[in-house]
Amino acid sequence: MVVVHELGLLTSVVEKISEVAPGRRVTKVFMRVGDRSGVVYDSLIAAWPVASFGTDCEDAQFEAELVISTVYCPTCDAEHEIDQFYALTCPVCGTPTADLRHGREFEISSIEVEKQG
Ligand SMILES: [Zn+2]
Repeated sequence: MVVVHELGLLTSVVEKISEVAPGRRVTKVFMRVGDRSGVVYDSLIAAWPVASFGTDCEDAQFEAELVISTVYCPTCDAEHEIDQFYALTCPVCGTPTADLRHGREFEISSIEVEKQG
């Protein structure tokens, strides 16, 4: 399975966690990943054991919340969910909109570390 892209991204995540929690054993990592972030969700899950191997994050539980894309439509004056592959137009009235509000997330939402002592 080719997960090079996701592996590279997760390696950065592991490095980031090491910066904020140096020397602490990480037990859980939660992320938010948009369906238009360019990340293949299943590959991300599959890459985690490899990316975390030999780091403070090794054996940590990994969960990624998939964030559904939404656009803001100025005609409806509302935010609508759109399909991952749907063009950037309002799904209700068809107005083109480039105002993507969600879907590009790739962020650590929280981590849990082992208590010291
Ligand atoms: Zn609309």
